Amino acid sequence: MSTSFSPIPKPPIDKFEVTPNLNYDTDLDGFDWQTIMDELDWLPGGGLNKAHEAIDRHALNPETANKLAMIWEGKNGEREDYTFADMKEQSDKFANVLKSLGIELGDRVFIFMERVPELYFAFFGILKAGAVAGPLFSAFGPDPVKDRMEDAGAKILVTQPDLRRKVTEIIPHLPELQHIIVVNKDNRDPEPLDAQDLSYEVEMAKASAEFQITNTSQNDYSIMHYTSGTTGKPKGAIHRHHAVIQQYSTGKWALDFHPDDLYWCTADPGWVTGTSYGMIAPWTNGVTQLIYEGGFRASYWYELIQKYKVTVWYTAPTAIRMLMKAGDELPKKYDFSSLRFAASVGEPLNPEAVVWGKDVLGHVFHDNWWQTETGAILCANYASSEIRPGSMGRPIPGVELAILDEDFKPVGPGQDGNLAVRPGWPSMFQHYWQKTDMYNSRFKRGWYITGDTANVDKDGYFWFVGRADDVINTAGHLVGPFEVESALIEHEAVAEAGVIGKPDPIAMELVKAFVSLKEGFEPSEKLRRDIMRFVRSKMAAAVAPREIEFIDSLPKTRSGKIMRRLLKARELGLPEGDTSTLEDD
Ligand code: ATP
Ligand code: MG
Repeated sequence: MSTSFSPIPKPPIDKFEVTPNLNYDTDLDGFDWQTIMDELDWLPGGGLNKAHEAIDRHALNPETANKLAMIWEGKNGEREDYTFADMKEQSDKFANVLKSLGIELGDRVFIFMERVPELYFAFFGILKAGAVAGPLFSAFGPDPVKDRMEDAGAKILVTQPDLRRKVTEIIPHLPELQHIIVVNKDNRDPEPLDAQDLSYEVEMAKASAEFQITNTSQNDYSIMHYTSGTTGKPKGAIHRHHAVIQQYSTGKWALDFHPDDLYWCTADPGWVTGTSYGMIAPWTNGVTQLIYEGGFRASYWYELIQKYKVTVWYTAPTAIRMLMKAGDELPKKYDFSSLRFAASVGEPLNPEAVVWGKDVLGHVFHDNWWQTETGAILCANYASSEIRPGSMGRPIPGVELAILDEDFKPVGPGQDGNLAVRPGWPSMFQHYWQKTDMYNSRFKRGWYITGDTANVDKDGYFWFVGRADDVINTAGHLVGPFEVESALIEHEAVAEAGVIGKPDPIAMELVKAFVSLKEGFEPSEKLRRDIMRFVRSKMAAAVAPREIEFIDSLPKTRSGKIMRRLLKARELGLPEGDTSTLEDD
């Protein structure tokens, strides 16, 4: 992959104020997952439970019981603080509520809530009861909620009054659903409960604050997440408690958690990043987290970093591009001196954005790669290593990644192919719920096939090329949309770009770009030609876009990913397929 950005060196380790947890270039000899397993607590009965590792082990330790686990800021500016001991008490109570309702090992309990503290109490209560937590993004409409709960056979739904009202029509269609528990946080909602619903507050008031965690085996299921739906109908990936081993260790290695950190993960728990890295990884590492209920606003996000003295920040390319769109003057008004480490996941992070982070926030974004299916980060740029802007870094210790050709055999450095993982990493998904054939189809010649196209350079850094389905074949050249999009957003007027292959009788496919502009720029023929010229100066003319179309905003999933399949369907006048995760305009 060509890039016009040079590597950004990291200072030698001893120049860091905080020594990185992992020196990737020297620490890996003789790596063994057993070392990590020994760092966890495990249950007295020999089992493993994410809630014990994340919450109770700190709550039961006098040195950490009163340490803050969660600093919550509500959307109306409210603030609530919870220690690990508080988290234990609340989640114990909720586990008792579930038990009193007959919940057993392996039952699915779904959460459809805003980011309020009760979401987190419920989540860990579910795990403690031995049930499987299925978090749903609160912006979903009734149909996506129905599809997922029906597919999973959910027995209980934990929700909030306005969200409960939003899904009223689907309830009769969920025969396995036994109870709805409604959290009326701070009595925000004045309307009475539906007669068939249970009040969270009433049930919690009755529940004992002592609960003995179910002695779950490391192989028992813990969490299920539906994928983002970027490439098609979302699939329910199910994970086991065993995944905690890698969620904990990648928190240390890829996000470089240290005990005094104040961490902010901007992902919602409705997506896997919001549970693996918005709950399990930070709390198993005993780190204090900021949870912000509100949505995106550039100025307020900057203010949150300053106000809470955030030290480690994990966000996504779509958010970074929105911050970039808001301009370089705004961040100058804020103090980011607390920030020590910034990371990004979810989509390829354009090199432009990596460098912007360094110039404007004083920190490069450390891109890392993983999927709902992988449960945890598998490839990362580390605190200790040089950053190669545009690269997703190097494999997590203990994880084997490879690039495979169409026969699923490894290829050499620099060659594009299927990004694959050697099965057996601790946080590997165990199943696509109700979709055994699809699950099995992802494994070939002893590898798990990720569905992404990438290459690896001679130093072992991996470079994302595109989703396998999105790679464009134009006049015999294979073009990854990411490379073209990255060149486009280097232009001063371009905020976001989505690139597709448009069928063409001669070239097979033409590269077509959809572009949204930064504030202060208007679409014009002159600007179109200027962007075209600019991209041609950056990349070979044969792979530069032949067509550029200006659009106000790109279609994205609710988790913020550009939906190129939708751009393509719209371009060709074809059916749009599953749009259950499409963001509202
Ligand atoms: P679906 O599987 O339903 O189409 P999805 O693949 O977008 O949706 P997720 O599991 O949320 O669902 O996303 C994982 C995918 O996101 C990866 O396979 C990859 O395509 C993309 N991705 C995640 N992180 C990165 C990254 N750092 N660089 C490039 N791509 C990334
Ligand atoms: Mg996927």
